[in-house]
Amino acid sequence: MISPFHSDIVRFLQRHHYSCVTPRAALIDMDGTLYDSMKNHTAAWHRLMTEAGIPCTRDEFYLYEGRTGASTINTLFNRALGRDATDEEKESLYHKKTVYFNELPPVKPMPGALDMVTTLSQAGIRRVLVTGSGQSSLISRIDTDFLGLFDPDMRITSRDVKHGKPHPEPFIRAMQLARVSPSQSIVIENAPLGIEAGDKAGAFTIGVTTGPIPVEEMEKAGAAIVFPSMEKFAEALPMLLLALLNTRIDS
Ligand code: MG
Repeated sequence: MISPFHSDIVRFLQRHHYSCVTPRAALIDMDGTLYDSMKNHTAAWHRLMTEAGIPCTRDEFYLYEGRTGASTINTLFNRALGRDATDEEKESLYHKKTVYFNELPPVKPMPGALDMVTTLSQAGIRRVLVTGSGQSSLISRIDTDFLGLFDPDMRITSRDVKHGKPHPEPFIRAMQLARVSPSQSIVIENAPLGIEAGDKAGAFTIGVTTGPIPVEEMEKAGAAIVFPSMEKFAEALPMLLLALLNTRIDS
């Protein structure tokens, strides 16, 4: 029986000129993927920028997801003021954004995320956390919410990269950390910029819908396949891993 994922996998292999994908590492985003944190992030950004007199809408911050805080601040400064933010402005605004985020009710792990990561672990696939965030309050919760599933050495945060998503650097650094090649990697993401970074890094990039971003935006960004929720993805993951191992083309 041909797996329901066959045609998506073949399309990905052809596009990247691979003969197969052999998943050895999963490079996993944090906000909106492991944690249901985007509502709080967009609320904190909107409050911050509104108070700073910079016009913005709350929903636009969903589209910036994955970038570093400094890059988001710069984008809004350029649009509203026609200039880059200074390093001091970036630092003080990002600090304030973190304070506003931490004032909001604590975020919960994304339903289905623990099952998803557990399945990867049981399949012997290394897990690397790859986040544009530098928000230590959430990063440090990984150890308790995903007990024993993320090695402290297997994390790429905004502090480890020069270029944030959509640049492929965070995922390339994660591959180096896990000692895998692009065709041995899968990326799990919820946001277009993260998906773009994963695909540019050469990984089989899975988009998971966990917020208001339409499927077409994820496909346009280069998602090899898109799932409608984290729970649905977690449920399908064992079959997807099997399908990846069993699909090979002459490249
Ligand atoms: Mg995300």
